[in-house]
Amino acid sequence: MRSAYALLVDAELLPQCSAKGCRASAVWALHWNNPKLHTPEYRKIWLACDDHRESLGTFLELRGFLREVTAFGAIS
Ligand SMILES: [Zn+2]
Repeated sequence: MRSAYALLVDAELLPQCSAKGCRASAVWALHWNNPKLHTPEYRKIWLACDDHRESLGTFLELRGFLREVTAFGAIS
């Protein structure tokens, strides 16, 4: 049980990329909003590693959902 707990803690300290199947640590936060589902102030956040920042960002941008991309609090 002790190791399972350690894994949980690690996941919290090192949030992972939102791309399917990717387990890299997130370094970017993509803030987006779907006007059909969300109020204008609402922001959904996807986390992305360096490799997926562009593909996830493009996915959102094509749909007109992307609002902002910020560096995700790097834990050194
Ligand atoms: Zn990734």
